Amino acid sequence: MIRDWLLDLFFPPKCIFCGRLLREGERAYCPDCRDNLPERDWKRPVRHTGGCVAPLRYEGVVRDAILRYKFGGRPHYAVVFGPMIAAKLGDCSAELVTWVPVSRGRKFGRGYDQAQLLAEETAKALHLPCVRTLQKRYRPKQSRMRDRAARQANIAGAFRVVNPEAVRDRHILLIDDICTTGATLSEAALTLRTAGAAEVSGAVLAMAGETRNSR
Ligand SMILES: [Zn+2]
Repeated sequence: MIRDWLLDLFFPPKCIFCGRLLREGERAYCPDCRDNLPERDWKRPVRHTGGCVAPLRYEGVVRDAILRYKFGGRPHYAVVFGPMIAAKLGDCSAELVTWVPVSRGRKFGRGYDQAQLLAEETAKALHLPCVRTLQKRYRPKQSRMRDRAARQANIAGAFRVVNPEAVRDRHILLIDDICTTGATLSEAALTLRTAGAAEVSGAVLAMAGETRNSR
């Protein structure tokens, strides 16, 4: 299955960000994009985590590529995105990787859970196990709510831990695709901490939203 994705990815060989045809020896994205992708040095404080890092900023060609990844039937982009997240983490002391799950309805509609694929590819690059730990309960769509207070109220209690024994006393790397206000990541981390996780580190593919906080 992965092999098929890779074939799709490289034939025809187009930059996954700007769509330019790649030259021989270029893989997945073009030198222009490699040198000009927006903002790579972000770490944002997110409650209940040791902070959240991201290799990219959610704007321009990055935003376009992520929208294609999520909604345009390009799950194979995860093969490229996962290692980008892993590279950002450096020496991470996490013992396992998990993700912020989408609802089962949404996964069914899309055919895949984009955060799960990112987590799997990130884990592979870090040589860590990737474990399903969270399940999403039904809630109205978070993206319909623009302000932070409404999102936080809506997200409270949104997740439950499916295998507490995998979580207890472990340092967990929690992956999502985008961090906007941090409310979703924070709630998922709180759920893991409540189940006994020793520590939760956050990482997403791209930071969105208002605050620039490089700490
Ligand atoms: Zn490009």
